[in-house]
Formats: sequence, structure tokens, C-alpha cells
Amino acid sequence: MIIDSHVHAGEYYRHFTTAFADQMMATTGMPPEALSAPEAKLIAEMDAAGVDRAFLLAFDVRRVEGFSVPNEFVAELCARHPDRFIGFASVDAATPGAADRLRHAITELGLSGLKTAPCYLRMSPADPRWYDVYETARELGIPVLVHTGYTPAKNADGRYFSPLLLEPVARDFPDLKIILAHLGTPWTGPCVELLARHPNLYADLSIFGSYRPPATVAGALAHARERGVLDRVLWGTDFPFATMTESVDRMARLTKDSEPWPDGSAPLTPEEYRAVMGGTAARLTGRPDLFTP
Ligand SMILES: [Zn+2]
Repeated sequence: MIIDSHVHAGEYYRHFTTAFADQMMATTGMPPEALSAPEAKLIAEMDAAGVDRAFLLAFDVRRVEGFSVPNEFVAELCARHPDRFIGFASVDAATPGAADRLRHAITELGLSGLKTAPCYLRMSPADPRWYDVYETARELGIPVLVHTGYTPAKNADGRYFSPLLLEPVARDFPDLKIILAHLGTPWTGPCVELLARHPNLYADLSIFGSYRPPATVAGALAHARERGVLDRVLWGTDFPFATMTESVDRMARLTKDSEPWPDGSAPLTPEEYRAVMGGTAARLTGRPDLFTP
């Protein structure tokens, strides 16, 4: 059972602007049009990679980028494929009514988590305007996936890239499960240390696991294991910014091949692999029924 914990819904002409697609895809080696995940392409990619389920993300950056991937759109895909997709809503805390929109997306549209994009919205994830939204997520018992780390989006604010900005949020909401996207790339070391400080924090491997050298990925996983937080690290791709097939291959190699691992660190055990590839994601959604090893 494999769960991709970071997958973007949305289609090139229908949702994303060409400027955004140009900037975001430039670093992937794929054309801007590849920033598109229509229903058939999503399912085909999951099937090809052996991915059973995906956290499917809405994306609200309308205030800054002029577009959004709406919660309603993600909810429709989830309703058509309830056995494949676990939907995450997205809201912008700087637009009025954000907490109410989140509540509506969970209780009325049937979504199961929240995705936020603070640096894209030129806000810190610790900005007080998010606190209503976090409190609502806590009440609803849903996880919050926060973009952390670098992004090539030109309108984003680099002051808000660091995963360490989540320190006060983790402290103020000890019952809220927060996933730091991209393991805070390139600040993966500080990200792992932050997880070690706060048991409510998780991190996903999207982009990092697909594009960094295997030795760098193995080094970060070894660090997470040494700090006792490997059971809070989730595999994910950021599809369509990275392919699922290649990423699954790369992860499988980290269970077999000791070559990329630092001296004294063994490859992932079968239990560690199962947890990273889906067990932890299923636990996080409060739906252990989603996961059968
Ligand atoms: Zn993403």
C-alpha cells in the first residue's frame, strides 16, 4: 500500500497561469504544459507507479498569483474516486472568511485536510491571521500541510521559506498535526531538528526525494532516524512537478542499496519503508482503515 502525500490537482489552461507554470516548471526540466494533472493523467500515473492513494491538494494563491485550484474542484475529483484521493482544501488567511471556507470545505465538501502556501501569499506561516484557520483545523481534527522551503515562484517572499517559522505554531497548537512540505528544502537539517522538538510535526519528501542526489536523500533520512522522527516522515512527489514512477523507484532503491547511505547507517528496513511510503500518511488522516500493508 503506497500513499503519495503531496499531489497537486489542477489543469494548465483551466487553472494555472502561464507565467506561474513557466516559473515553476523551469527547474524540473519539463515544459510548462506539464504543470497539469487532469483526472485521467492522475489515475494513470498512480496506476503506473503502484500508488494506491494520494493526498490531492487544492491551491489558493488567487490574491497574489491571480489563480486558484478551488476546493470544489478537488472535492469533485475525490467524490468520483473516493478509493484513490484524500482531498486537502486550501485557503488564504489574508482574505476574509478563510476559517469559514475551511470549515465548509471539510464539513460540506467532504475534504480531509488543509494545504497552505504562506510564502506564495507573502505571509509567514506564523502570521496571526492564520491562527483562526489553525484553530478551526484543530477543532475539525484535520492535518495541515504547509509549504516550507524554496520555491521558484517569482512573486513568493523568500523571508517566509524557512521551516523554522513553524516553531511558534507548533508550540501554540500542540494538538494540531502539521506537515512541513519538501522537508524544508534546502533547510532539511533544521527541519528534522524541529520535528525532534515538536511531536505534532511531520514532514514530506516531495521534490527533495525526486531531485536531490540519492546520498543527500539517504543522509536526511539517516538524520531523521537518528533523531527518532523517521516515523513522522512521509513520502510524496509534488506531482505533476515530479513523476511518481521515478520517485517510487528511487525510494525502493534506498531499501536495498547501502551505497548512498552514510557510514554506520543501514538502508530502510521493510517496516521503515512501509511507514514512509504510506503507513504514516494513513495514520495522520485518522483513517487507519485506508492502509493495509
Ligand atoms: Zn506542492
